[in-house]
Amino acid sequence: MPRPIQAHIDLSALLHNYRLAQAHAPGARAWAVVKANAYGHGLLRAYAALKDAADGFAMLDLAEAVALRQAGATQPLLLLEGFFQPRDLPLVAELDLATAVHCSEQVEMLTRARLSRPVSVMLKMNSGMNRLGLTPDAFLAALARLRHHPNVAALTLMTHFADADGARGISGQFDLFRRTTGDAGLPWSVANSATILRVPEAAGAWVRPGIMLYGGSPFPDQASAQALGLRPVMTLSSEIIGLQDLQPGERVGYGGTFAADRPMRVGVVACGYADGYPRHAPTGTPVLVGGQRTRTLGRVSMDMLAVDLSALPEARVGTPVVLWGEGLAADEVATSAGTISYELFCALAPRVPVAVVGRSQP
Ligand SMILES: *Cc1c(COP(=O)(O)O)cnc(C)c1O
Repeated sequence: MPRPIQAHIDLSALLHNYRLAQAHAPGARAWAVVKANAYGHGLLRAYAALKDAADGFAMLDLAEAVALRQAGATQPLLLLEGFFQPRDLPLVAELDLATAVHCSEQVEMLTRARLSRPVSVMLKMNSGMNRLGLTPDAFLAALARLRHHPNVAALTLMTHFADADGARGISGQFDLFRRTTGDAGLPWSVANSATILRVPEAAGAWVRPGIMLYGGSPFPDQASAQALGLRPVMTLSSEIIGLQDLQPGERVGYGGTFAADRPMRVGVVACGYADGYPRHAPTGTPVLVGGQRTRTLGRVSMDMLAVDLSALPEARVGTPVVLWGEGLAADEVATSAGTISYELFCALAPRVPVAVVGRSQP
């Protein structure tokens, strides 16, 4: 018997969420962002869900783009960090990939390359996040160089916002981007999930939804995924594999960080940090046992965690447990653990068996 832990990936929920992103940006095309193995959901699973619907897929690694072309993807594929070496470029051209160009070194590599055909470029401006991108002056100089260069097919202008989900919002960065690029008369792309949901006028030619595709709210403190109309894609579930009855003063787990203040029953769940559950989730993190909400107790171990069964006298060895997903938003667990749903999804461990549910087409 394998351990009872399992992740379900709901392809119809993924398709639903992609369509919701499209509905928020009706004039735009939408890159389905599938970097980081589709935020832990599996690149080819995400592709199976979206292959007939997605306008394009955006990823980081050339190998991911190769995998999608091999799987039969004919739509545009975008490398969000672009290429890393001159020797990447012939393959970029051969596979007809669109590439971000975010630094002067990439401009040099691209203009010097000898390519079988020109490549589509997303020229990236640093509008204030100070991660990737060319400063406005360097951006305009690069634009002038690339605009009519024989190695460049379509040109789209892009930037990325640091606080689209937060209090500062996008306006400072978006204003600078529009002021700098306004005269160019070229299509542009600036919107991640938070921007798509909050600032419809920033949709541009291409939006770039990531977390919302996987059913995570980009701003869970303001709106739950459910309130946004998003459906959970990943459900991490397991079972109770052991029970303990505690007397007042008895403690649970490593370090004994939780002590019972009354007689109580504790369930032990086959899920730990080696499965991707966050070790720093404190006592009180929500969990579903037999469909009912309760809380974790004490420290998360490598392979197990403990849950409070005080209000669940019917729970037994074998009672199903949902760690996050259907019935319990990953955002709630993430918030309790001081992180974001992105990190929970990406951390799903390879040892967790995955079952695909739902059909990709209604
Ligand atoms: C990851 C990423 C996105 C998607 O962001 P979400 O917050 O997950 O929607 C969009 N654009 C770029 C450049 C990214 O790296």
